[in-house]
Amino acid sequence: MDKAKIIDGKMVSELIKTKVTAQVSKIKAAEQRIPVLTIIQIGNHKASSTYIKNKKIACEKVGINCNVLNYLDTISEAELIKIIDELNNNAEIDAILVQLPLSEHINSEKIINTIATKKDVDGFTPKILGNLMLGHYNLLPGTPKGIMALFKHYQIQLFGQHAVIIGRSNIVGKPLANLLINASATVTVCHSQTKNLTTLTKQADILISAVGKAKFVTASMIKENAIVIDVGINWDEHNNLCGDVDFENVLPKVKMITPVPGGVGPMTIASLLENILYLYHINQT
Ligand code: NDP
Repeated sequence: MDKAKIIDGKMVSELIKTKVTAQVSKIKAAEQRIPVLTIIQIGNHKASSTYIKNKKIACEKVGINCNVLNYLDTISEAELIKIIDELNNNAEIDAILVQLPLSEHINSEKIINTIATKKDVDGFTPKILGNLMLGHYNLLPGTPKGIMALFKHYQIQLFGQHAVIIGRSNIVGKPLANLLINASATVTVCHSQTKNLTTLTKQADILISAVGKAKFVTASMIKENAIVIDVGINWDEHNNLCGDVDFENVLPKVKMITPVPGGVGPMTIASLLENILYLYHINQT
């Protein structure tokens, strides 16, 4: 593998975690209350359980307390709102994360909007997303924040570059598009109704894929020397973790690329840790 082309999210995330660990150590040394994240899990969706486990391990490694509240997927929307309200008013909890997706009978948007802005560690509430659009970056959603940190670390120029994003979700595509516009990139956002997708992706100086389909992005969809960011988390025919990009065939063509695993995933977790600390500090004041 051509290592020079790899955008090493694992390595960059470790740098961030080292900084977070140092900050938590200072808090401990000052005998202050340790930051606390509460994760709400509804049901026992297999992928959600894995993501939650990884978040909990990451918190514990840097010294942050993480507790997981697990409820049956028969819980009503009203009950869940009551639980979140209680957490909003609990001064011992700095950050609240509701693991998505939720059961169909629960309105996710309503649940997310119940989280107090000052405890919204995922950054999915309207005020945080509105601020992001306006260029006020107090807290950013984890995945877009992590991707922007990779651009910064690798000194990847954004201004004047054509960034093409495949995927328009509220958690990845839309916030990332706004961050890139604010960084003076020219941004195209594609989705399932986009016509002539390849014509657009082939114009990308920076191509970001957040679709959720293994080997969706093939070598023929990419311009020579493009930078490729693979957000996807999928499993291939051998049940191995993989992204959206046909990595092996795309690699010879790109200038740089994020692998899966070891690319965007660890950066999302590192950003989550930074967000917990940020909320801890604003909740202390
Ligand atoms: P969503 O399912 O919400 O969005 C997928 C997007 O892909 C939609 O906008 C959809 O279009 C678009 N799409 C689907 N099929 C096509 C197609 N044939 N052509 C063009 N666009 C298409 O997913 P998320 O944004 O939540 O996540 C995307 C992927 O990233 C998943 O694999 C997820 O697991 C992963 N992920 C990884 C993270 C990480 O830390 N690495 C964090 C978050 C997500 P439309 O809107 O029209 O339906």
